[in-house]
Amino acid sequence: MIKKLVAGNWKMNGSLAANEALLAALQPVPGVDVALCVPYPYLAQLQRRPSGFELGAQDVSEFAAGAYTGEVSAAMLTDFGCRYVIVGHSERRALFGEDDLTVARKASSALSAGLVPIVCVGETLDEREAGEVTAVITRQLAAVADLLGQEGLSRLVLAYEPVWAIGSGRSATAEQAEEAHAAMRGWLAGQGVDAGVIRILYGGSVKPDNAAELFAMPNVDGGLIGGASLVADDFMAICRAA
Ligand code: PEP
Repeated sequence: MIKKLVAGNWKMNGSLAANEALLAALQPVPGVDVALCVPYPYLAQLQRRPSGFELGAQDVSEFAAGAYTGEVSAAMLTDFGCRYVIVGHSERRALFGEDDLTVARKASSALSAGLVPIVCVGETLDEREAGEVTAVITRQLAAVADLLGQEGLSRLVLAYEPVWAIGSGRSATAEQAEEAHAAMRGWLAGQGVDAGVIRILYGGSVKPDNAAELFAMPNVDGGLIGGASLVADDFMAICRAA
């Protein structure tokens, strides 16, 4: 049985004062790994956070160091004690032009620095309606696998995040999530990695009232939580459901 991971993605939200209030309302949840993926400027503030909460970022440069104005390297994230970094979130793919190869390179740069990339994959509504869910997510995974190989693949956390479910209030049903997760695990097994130990998180409008049902699915190993991670009571309830 894989220990569940719940990762909060604060996106571009927060302020020093708001973060302080949120952190003060968080309590450790035994038996579940919990991570907070915060905007870069708040990594310093999060050096002081309640015990039991790992630190993560929401993006990382594909480059190691040098003349890349505006970029943040994986080594800088480890300097601040990050364990995780989200890579290939659909907002980065859609709004910032990240393609499958860039996502793979970012995952590689994170792994090289000892970070655990949380690699996001997922289909748009049009792709789902065209029956392309498995084709899209395996294409996205294959780009990462091609660059990282079996060994790298086995060190990732994956997140299935259907684009239409993110921030929409319309979660995938537990059955839809399970179907996609099972397909991903089957694909991983086909790559020759020990698919049974790779965490596959679900993300997309997870709330306190649907978390338990989603997390009860055999192939759902936790969640990537956007909006609800900004509300302490909701985030705590989701963590407790895991
Ligand atoms: C996300 O940002 O990864 C996400 C899943 O957002 P939300 O929970 O708000 O849908």
